[in-house]
Amino acid sequence: MAKKASVRDVRRTNRALLVRHLLMAGETSRSAVGVDTGLSPATVTSVMAELLEERTVREEGFLDSLGGRRRVIVGLNPDAAVLFGADVGETRVTTAAFDLTLGRLAERATSFSGRRIDPEHVMDVVLEHVESLLAELEFDRSKVLGLGLGVPGIVENPASEHDADAIVHAEVLGWKAVTFAGFADRLGFPVYLDNGAKTTTQAEAWYGSAKDIDHAIVVLIGDGAGAGIITNGRLYRGSSSSAGEWGHTKISLDGIRCRCGSHGCVETFVGASAVLERWRGREDSWTGRETEGVDALLAAAAEGDERALDALRGLVEHLGLALSNLVNLYNPQKIIIGGWFGDLIAERFLEDIGSAMRRFSLEQPGSEAVLERSRLGQEAVALGAATLPLDRFIEMGWPQ
Ligand SMILES: [Zn+2]
Repeated sequence: MAKKASVRDVRRTNRALLVRHLLMAGETSRSAVGVDTGLSPATVTSVMAELLEERTVREEGFLDSLGGRRRVIVGLNPDAAVLFGADVGETRVTTAAFDLTLGRLAERATSFSGRRIDPEHVMDVVLEHVESLLAELEFDRSKVLGLGLGVPGIVENPASEHDADAIVHAEVLGWKAVTFAGFADRLGFPVYLDNGAKTTTQAEAWYGSAKDIDHAIVVLIGDGAGAGIITNGRLYRGSSSSAGEWGHTKISLDGIRCRCGSHGCVETFVGASAVLERWRGREDSWTGRETEGVDALLAAAAEGDERALDALRGLVEHLGLALSNLVNLYNPQKIIIGGWFGDLIAERFLEDIGSAMRRFSLEQPGSEAVLERSRLGQEAVALGAATLPLDRFIEMGWPQ
């Protein structure tokens, strides 16, 4: 038998509904909040009083309404809290500070050229970033709701309340079942982990190209490749949260060896290093200088270098093929391309990639799927990571 919801549960649910609505709606009025959320006027009044008292919500100015009385503008108070989002990439760690409405306040980034980062090192770097951001913004730790960490690979028990519970398997970084245990104590506030492609997908669903889309896929292409899948408006995770490891689905029996140890993986055809290797060969390695390499590749192609053009044509074909598998499997309304390398290639070749995708897809789902470049760009991973502590705040309120 289902347990009867307590008065406190109902109150918490109503509060969460209201805060989530205010986050998405921006500035609005009490009466509009009631209409949009379906909560009764009495409930809106009572929950709003609580939110105003804790300064989560502020009233500011008036909305002019035609003929009627003026309505007070209500909205989330951006200054009420700070959230951090960190993007742990293959060669770079970026930590950004956000206000309560996820407005970006400032960020810090550290690059690691040509070497692998280990979790200890990530913790040291992020801690340094956080200290420096807190000092710059003159924020007190008590205002921090938490830090979200978007990492490569599979995260078991994502967004756990205890940092030791989230287990990360990132073969590309040599991380085998690592945890970030003790990190929350070092920071002095909670830490929540998830896969970077999934946090990016969350950001795209809240603010970006996947907003209000029930069936969308966000593919993130850098040196590696991953995907976040939204079905029926929710992020699809699978049984142990590894769903979306699209970069290691196979599109060939041949090809160069993947960092996961296998052959024929999508990322060995569409990842930045793989494409650079197809252009200049392995000996002229761009390891640790991939962005520089990609700039050189695009410049060479613009000058008509046949091998550069070949490498790019191969990329477009293989990416179209790999995307068509997503189309046939998931029947998405939209596929959004992001990630630093994905963004560069989508900017230039979106149309070609789209026609390759449709050519390899079944006709009906292929004709439905719209391919887009991410509107959030490279900022999406850190922003998405910051939605983890924000989501916790919305559901649970201020830490007791
Ligand atoms: Zn692989």
